[in-house]
Amino acid sequence: MVSSTPCRRGSNLKIKKCKSCETYTLKDACPSCGGQVVSPHPPKFSPHDPYGRYRRMMKKEALQRG
Ligand SMILES: [Zn+2]
Repeated sequence: MVSSTPCRRGSNLKIKKCKSCETYTLKDACPSCGGQVVSPHPPKFSPHDPYGRYRRMMKKEALQRG
């Protein structure tokens, strides 16, 4: 079965990504801009909100366009 997940794989590190500048880091804060970092691979998702990630993606795009 082929997954359509666009996420990259192959890392077992707890890498995180800055929500502001999308810099990848292992720290709890962005070393570039000091922004909040989030895991690009959430350990779990809400079955009650299957489209939450898409809403967040759209929200992120809106912020980038801002
Ligand atoms: Zn940043």
